[in-house]
Amino acid sequence: MRYIDQIDLKDKRVFIRCDFNVPMDKQGNITDDSRIRAHLPTIDYAIKVGSKIIVASHLGRPKGKKVEEFSLKPTAQALSGLLGREVIFVEDCIGDEVEKKVSDMKVGDIVLLENLRFYPGEEKNDAEFAAKLARLCDVYIDDAFAVSHRKAASNTAITDFVKVCAAGFLLKNEIEYFNKAMKDPERPFVAIIGGAKVSDKIGVLENLIEKVDILIVGGGMAFTFIRAMGFGTGSSLCETEMLDTAKNIMTKAAAKKVKLCLPLDCVVAEKAATDTEIKVCKISEIPNNWIGLDIGPQTISSFADALKDVKTVIWNGPMGMFELEPFSRGTFSIAASVAASGALSIIGGGDTGLAVERAGVSEKISYISTGGGAFLELLEGKTMPAIEALEKNGGNT
Ligand code: AMP
Repeated sequence: MRYIDQIDLKDKRVFIRCDFNVPMDKQGNITDDSRIRAHLPTIDYAIKVGSKIIVASHLGRPKGKKVEEFSLKPTAQALSGLLGREVIFVEDCIGDEVEKKVSDMKVGDIVLLENLRFYPGEEKNDAEFAAKLARLCDVYIDDAFAVSHRKAASNTAITDFVKVCAAGFLLKNEIEYFNKAMKDPERPFVAIIGGAKVSDKIGVLENLIEKVDILIVGGGMAFTFIRAMGFGTGSSLCETEMLDTAKNIMTKAAAKKVKLCLPLDCVVAEKAATDTEIKVCKISEIPNNWIGLDIGPQTISSFADALKDVKTVIWNGPMGMFELEPFSRGTFSIAASVAASGALSIIGGGDTGLAVERAGVSEKISYISTGGGAFLELLEGKTMPAIEALEKNGGNT
């Protein structure tokens, strides 16, 4: 794998694959520009070293057709504002006109191409489409970590057609932080896994149990474990078809001497709403028809104890339905404990990143990943096609 700062970009046409899949309101205004900001170090560097910059991304799911609401035009304006220089928007991403615009570029010019997913070839990892993108540039830089678990023409096939390929700073950070935690972690190493369903994260739990010293399980998925221990879970989220999986995880944890921390108590409510009666109960006493929506105070302090003196933390998935204030305390308290631990802390998944921000501790987290699905697939130990393609073709000169 080569990185952007290891290659010569001067006077070169540099194609930077970004993830500008930003949230927008109905009027087409960008409601959160953090995905654009995440790529500024890479783009700024390309400007600084004197290249001609071609930026490309997908947005939404236009399914291979030109759909106006998924145009990247508003992103060009936002990017221009953030960089403090003009960004030329091109209303297509391949073809003669785009090639002409790109060949007229001067050093320091920045062009943003239209949504790559307006062509079906993008998501099909189509070689012909990739070759057309490749014609636009001398150097290919992949910075779009959040889509690196999906083969696309602009992150996989393109590397077969561009001679010089490398990772940008965002992708570099994602890979380096992840490797620091997973390849040779400073111990004790703890994983905190929460969120809605065990079924979404079986692969993650199975991979992590082989690597961590402590595994903390909270959120909706903990109720499947609680049921597997023989307790009633009322109307809480519980996947009965996952009971054996939960039992296997518990057995493996015991065999491998991994400390498995599960909730001791929980916050239950009659419905998932703010205007409802709530109470705290032990996990062995969840009333029928009530829903467990957060970890309770005893659990918060036992998880906080488990997080003392740890050296590496990986966290994905909230401890409860934190979006509603009455059920947010567990997630926010764990966020505070992670921040206070002083450990190398890596957080992934949009929900968990948001929770940490709302808890006001994001500054104290070592790294917040920009990938949701991509982060989970890394945690599962899967290979990422876009990263593999860069590794394979990164040595080209
Ligand atoms: P995930 O995408 O699997 O990380 O799940 C995140 C979602 O899980 C958030 O929207 C939370 O509201 C939800 N969640 C966490 N704990 C619970 C719970 N105890 N009951 C229902 N939903 C939950």
